[in-house]
Amino acid sequence: MRRKLFLETFGCQMNVLDSELVLGQLRAQGYESVDDRDAADVVIFNTCSVREHAEQKVWSRLGELRQRKAAEPGMVIGVIGCMAERDGTNIFQRFPHVDVLCGPGELDKLPTLVHNAVITNADRSTTKKSREVALMGAAVRRSSTLAAAEDTLELLDLSRSVSPGDDVTQSYVRITRGCNKFCTYCVVPYTRGPEVHRPPQNIIDEVRKMTEAGSKEVTLLGQTINHYAYRHGDGRTTTFADLLYQIHEAVPELPRLRFVTSFPRDFTDAALQAMRDCERICRFLHVPAQHGNDRVLKLMNRGYSAQQYIDFVGRARDYMPDISIASDFIVGFPTETDEEFQQTVDLVKLCRFKNSFIFKYSPRPGTVAIDRFADDVPEDVKRRRNNELLAVQQQVTLEENRKLVGRTLEVMVEGESKLVSRQAAYPASKVELGWEKRRVESMPMKTQLVGRTRGDQVVCFDGDLSLKGAVLDVEITDSRGMTLFASLADPVAAATA
Ligand code: SAM
Ligand code: SF4
Repeated sequence: MRRKLFLETFGCQMNVLDSELVLGQLRAQGYESVDDRDAADVVIFNTCSVREHAEQKVWSRLGELRQRKAAEPGMVIGVIGCMAERDGTNIFQRFPHVDVLCGPGELDKLPTLVHNAVITNADRSTTKKSREVALMGAAVRRSSTLAAAEDTLELLDLSRSVSPGDDVTQSYVRITRGCNKFCTYCVVPYTRGPEVHRPPQNIIDEVRKMTEAGSKEVTLLGQTINHYAYRHGDGRTTTFADLLYQIHEAVPELPRLRFVTSFPRDFTDAALQAMRDCERICRFLHVPAQHGNDRVLKLMNRGYSAQQYIDFVGRARDYMPDISIASDFIVGFPTETDEEFQQTVDLVKLCRFKNSFIFKYSPRPGTVAIDRFADDVPEDVKRRRNNELLAVQQQVTLEENRKLVGRTLEVMVEGESKLVSRQAAYPASKVELGWEKRRVESMPMKTQLVGRTRGDQVVCFDGDLSLKGAVLDVEITDSRGMTLFASLADPVAAATA
């Protein structure tokens, strides 16, 4: 009998990729992936620890499963990812019905852990409770100098498989793991360990594999992706710029290549030149600024000033005037004053970001900030600053989007729009009357599709769902809210795309 597996993912793109990889491994072991948690024999949560809110969602999921586990002791519950690493075996104290804990740096071991838990829980001759644990712990098993090739976790990426029916139109490929920056508020260096750079050939092979399987857009992933530099055994170094050129040249069939997340201080001119020179690399950068005030940036240990960030944005736009840039900001960092917050507002207005992800500071156990600074900005002040910054960013987005109306832009069709999906022709004519009915029936069903520009702007337009995955031109006709609306620039060409 094939055991049924339910896997729910929280958090960032890195977690989405981790989930895809472990799902592939577990499917290869005979598990069948299901969407209904109640029908699953094995339930796994791939978790995020970046903010407390993300953790609370998982606590509540685990609470919901308490009764079911009491009634079905044979089932297996696993917590994997950053929460497992950060909370460790404390999770067993609070939720004794959890069987498996596996940190993000140990995911290659997950199939064995799950298998052991399934065997133990199925053995009715004993009341022994399974406790399967793989965590990096304080003694991080991988040193920052260890090459990814020697790292067993690399095998997880190398063993990636695509099954028939998997939607790989857009896919992720990791180029680095972990982070060495130690921003004072952030758990990532502790949960994902030190930065490890994957060998370029492994990355190129994986991009090619995903392209051959049907990917139209590959997004390279890394916490500070532009810090990539792989040192070969013979002393050569492949820089981030080299890697971009190499992928672009080695996989010419891939229509689009993207990467996230960039670190402001690490951007070389060579990397910007590579973006400018390679036509299939999207003109989009996600470069979190986090704050607009130098004192706060220092407390955050970001390693740059607001002016240096502004200079970087100017440099990127000198190379590519049409580049679109997104950012992240934290509001209510300890001791942040109103005046300092206003400098963040000014930065958003000045840099004209395409969008910004705005977060209220959340003190995280184990970080430097929680030990060193009191969380002294009251919740209502955090909320007010969050809303104000959001409103300013929305106004910037609106103004920048309006400038695109009338232009022809390339989009990659992601699928059906969640906004509206409708019958474009005669929607109100469903009355069963003479010619009108026949006419409605003979009109093709039009769906509202959603696509993304090379600059990462979201565009809605009418078209056939069979266009999913196509890369085509649209004419931007309108800008409403945060969304652009368009029509197909060449419907005939689109029909054959
Ligand atoms: N590596 C990326 C970088 O350095 O920009 C981002 C990684 S982090 C998972 C994503 C975002 O979460 C950060 O850019 C930051 O804005 C936010 N973040 C991280 N720790 C946070 C905390 N303790 N409270 C609030 N936001 C936080
Ligand atoms: Fe966290 Fe800073 Fe590393 Fe980003 S660069 S993952 S914010 S420590």
